This record gives sequence, C-alpha cells and structure tokens, in this order.
Amino acid sequence: MNPDLNHLANRPVVVGAGIAGLMTALELAPQPVVLMSATALGAEASSALAQGGMAAALGSDDSPALHSADTRRAGDGMCDVSVVERILGKAPKIIEKLERLGVAFDRMVDGGLALGLEAAHSRRRIVHAGGDATGRELIRALVAAVRAAPSIAVLENFAARRLVVEDGTVAGVVAASETGGVVFATNRIVLATGGIGGLYHDTTNPLGCFGQGLALAARAGAELADLEFVQFHPTAFDGPVRPMRLVSEAVRGEGAVLIDEKGERFLADLPGGELAPRDIVAREVSRHLGRGHRVFLDTRGCLGTRFAERFPAIAAFCREAGIDPSREPIPVRPAVHYHMGGIAVDDEGRSSVPGLWACGEVASTGLHGANRLASNSLTEAAVSAEWVAHSMASATSSRIVKTSSTALPPPPDPGVVRDIVSDSLGVVRTAEGLGNAILRLAPLAIGGSACADPAAVALMMTVSALRREESRGAHFRSDFPDQAATARRSQLTLERALAAAAEFDPLPLARSA
Ligand SMILES: Cc1cc2nc3c(=O)[nH]c(=O)nc-3n(C[C@H](O)[C@H](O)[C@H](O)COP(=O)(O)OP(=O)(O)OC[C@H]3O[C@@H](n4cnc5c(N)ncnc54)[C@H](O)[C@@H]3O)c2cc1C
Repeated sequence: MNPDLNHLANRPVVVGAGIAGLMTALELAPQPVVLMSATALGAEASSALAQGGMAAALGSDDSPALHSADTRRAGDGMCDVSVVERILGKAPKIIEKLERLGVAFDRMVDGGLALGLEAAHSRRRIVHAGGDATGRELIRALVAAVRAAPSIAVLENFAARRLVVEDGTVAGVVAASETGGVVFATNRIVLATGGIGGLYHDTTNPLGCFGQGLALAARAGAELADLEFVQFHPTAFDGPVRPMRLVSEAVRGEGAVLIDEKGERFLADLPGGELAPRDIVAREVSRHLGRGHRVFLDTRGCLGTRFAERFPAIAAFCREAGIDPSREPIPVRPAVHYHMGGIAVDDEGRSSVPGLWACGEVASTGLHGANRLASNSLTEAAVSAEWVAHSMASATSSRIVKTSSTALPPPPDPGVVRDIVSDSLGVVRTAEGLGNAILRLAPLAIGGSACADPAAVALMMTVSALRREESRGAHFRSDFPDQAATARRSQLTLERALAAAAEFDPLPLARSA
C-alpha cells in the first residue's frame, strides 16, 4: 500500500459515494471507516440526479401495509414479502433520520412534509426536496455530514478494480488512484457502486454507472440475482445529450399524450393510455420506434403556455435543445433507468462471499421484484445502510489481513459492450438476439482487455434473460409473451454463466431463424 495510507489498513471499506455509500459510512460512525469513491463524493452518482423523491407511508390515510401492497403489485409476483415489509416499515423513520442529518425536505405552509403522488402509488407518499431536485439536496446534506465526521477517511478519485479473496474470504481491495495502484487490506467491504445504465447507449444514469460493483462481486465469486430485470423509463428526452434527461411521468399525469411524426396518438386504444404502467408504455413506444416512426410527447393541449411554469427544469433543457413545448411536441424514447437485479444479499446485506456486503442499487434485496415502484430505491438504499453498517460493525475480526497483491486491471471501458447490450437486452428480448449476444460477450468476458468486466456483467444479464422463458415485469420476451404460473427469482455466478456460455448451442436458434 502507498505508505501514507498504511494507517487505514484493516478498517471497513465502503466503495461508492451515492446515498447508499454515504449513509453506510455515516451509520458506521464513530467506528473508523474508509469511504472510497471513483470520483468526487456524490459525483457520477444516480443519487444526485433523483427527481421525484423518497417513498414513505407518512400520510394520515397511509400505512406501510398499503405501501407494501403497491410495491408488490408493481413487482409482479417476485417481491420478497418479508423484505418489502421490513424496508417499507422503516421508511418513515429514515426520513426523520435524514432530516436530522440536514436534508431539507419540502414542507407545506402548515409545516407538515409535502407528499407527492406518483404512478402506481395509491396514496400521496413521495417526500421530495427543492421540488424536483431531491437527489441534489440529499447528496449536499450527506456529503456535508460525511466531511464533518472525523471517523470517516474519505478517498476521492480511488476506483476499486478488484477484490482480493483469500481462502474464500474477502482480504482486501485493489484500487486505482491518481498516483497508481493501491491495495487496502481489510476483511470488511461494502459495495455501494450503483447501477448498470452506462452499459446502454440510451440511459438516464451517469455514464460512469456501468456495473463495476457487479463485476467486482462476480469476479470474487459472489451470487448475483434477478439480473434480467432492467427498468426502462418510457419518456427520456430524445437528443444527443448523455445521460438522457427525463421527461417525468408527471407530464403525462397532467394530460400530455404520445404522438408520432404524423400527429397520430398511437396509444389511444391501450388500456390506461399514456398512464399505463411504465414497462407497458416503454414497450409500446419502443415498438413504434422500431416500425420507423418518431415519438413525441405533446403537451400543447393540456398545459400549453403553462408548461414552463409547471415544469421549469424540463422546459429549460428543452429550450437548450431548441424545443419550445408550448408550441411543439417533445421528442422522447425509452431509456434504461434502474436495475432491479444485483448482488444477492441476505437480511443483513451480506453477499455469498464472507466479508462482502452490498447496499443500494448494486444489491438485490428482493424489494423490487420484477419491476421497481417509483421512488422506492432511495428509500431502500437509506434503510438498508442501517442494517449493513450494523452487520459490518458486529463482524469485527481479530484476523489482521495482510495482502500485497497490486496487479491493477486496466480501467474498464464498456464501449464495445454497449452496442451488444443495447441491441439484445433492450425493452423486447428474443432467444435469437440473446443467443447472439452470448456468443459475442463470452470471449470478451474471459479476455484481459478493458471491456472484460463490462462484458462479464452483460454476459450474466444475458444468460439470465435467456433462461427466463416468460414475460414478467420489466422482462419481456416476444417469443415467450406469457407469464409462467409460478414466479421464481434467479441466481447466477460468473462461473456458472461462463459454463452456460461455453455449452451454448446456437444451432437451434439458426434453425428457427
Ligand atoms: C435521472 C434519475 C432519476 C431518479 N429518480 C429517482 C427518484 O426520484 N426516487 C428514487 O427512489 N430513485 C430514483 N432514481 C434511482 C436512484 O437515484 C438510484 O437507484 C440510487 O440513487 C442509487 O444509489 P446508490 O448509492 O446505490 O448508487 P449511486 O448513487 O449511483 O452511487 C454510486 C457511487 O459509486 C461510485 N462508484 C462506482 N464504481 C466505483 C468503483 N469501482 N470504485 C469506487 N467508486 C465507485 C460512483 O462514483 C458513485 O459515487 C433515479 C435515477 C436516475 C438516473
């Protein structure tokens, strides 16, 4: 290890500084902890971009039971009921805790928390800040709290590249810093590295979120779960800017309609129309684009000149792109927004590898099932940080780990993988597309190039998607459009995914093509 970092050895290490990593480090205080972030704290984090807010049953007409029922309906039979009840039962308390940490949530004139309503929630329960700037406020307050905590050693611009596993147990992490590779000897690591949107061309996630945590865990031998479930937001602004900006569901809630370049309202006959569930609208938009149309959100009839007043942030980026929503429709297309899959964790956030925990979007707790209910992810990250920290704190070990391995893999680059994933693991999947992706991804995943880690993650997602011969929640197979009678979660290790790829026979696909 870099000599001036030696004093940090054997502390628990938190990798990632979105809401999950920041909260875990704060929950561990006053126990000394290392908080490592590939960028400045809170930068390149989906957390900072969150708009809608955090779901919690706080209204007088609401209860955790109602919140759980809505979550399970969205999850399409795949939620882990005990996890749903545990997380959502603690949601109101976590809002209080965040306020104590300095987060200024929006309040009404009578002083009560302002509660928003979002699609598929049966009650007003979305706590927000700065109107649609919830993530920015969360990160501001949590970063300030972390910087003020003497127990947290903050290492910015340190990117974890490999976990060191000895005798089947975590023994350290190899990281790249501005001055070269460093190894931290530790037997307690929590991955809080966020999602996978950056594996796709069209995404609302920061491009730096391309599943690095999944790759770290997979290469350490961990079980990953439900990887095939990727949520697409149906109406991202269709322009060249990445990450893509969201044209929020609230715009459709105000009566905006989806039209094509001929002005035709192509969802008019769909039950629920533009307000049908997110996955259904995303598929319909994607199909229409696939037939060669362009798709627009038309707000002229419902909001007209009031658009900029009601949606100032959306109006501003439309203006930057030369679109005036009061006079012309907004171009939109589906974009990857959230990953329901992740590192399989137990009720303390522990992975299948001793010494490795996961928290936030990178983890698969079982809360979201096949489809995340809007605004449940920030809540999940903040609540589970509590029990992850508690579990790590109580897992003290007298074993002093010493590790000297410094081999630093190349910086991961998802470039080539993005083409494959965008083509094959999109809104609508087929055996043929997934099979072709396996053939292209497997050699990349076992090679030593910069795309090996992104390819390994994409391969695991693809094998999971090929094995799920049904359509459920966000996973839609045009060759298996029906839902299986029984919902079952999926689990996979990298070793099993590579074995499946090696045995994969493309001939049946060729015969059916
Ligand atoms: C545009 C947008 C709007 C959203 N709106 C909402 C909303 O209103 N409500 C809601 O509940 N959810 C929302 N979500 C989802 C939610 O924001 C995320 O699920 C959540 O913030 C994930 O938090 P996290 O801490 O797990 O990961 P992130 O916030 O993505 O943080 C990951 C961190 O890990 C770091 N990192 C990654 N790899 C490494 C590495 N190898 N080494 C070191 N550090 C690393 C990154 O730099 C970053 O700091 C939204 C998402 C997007 C993209």
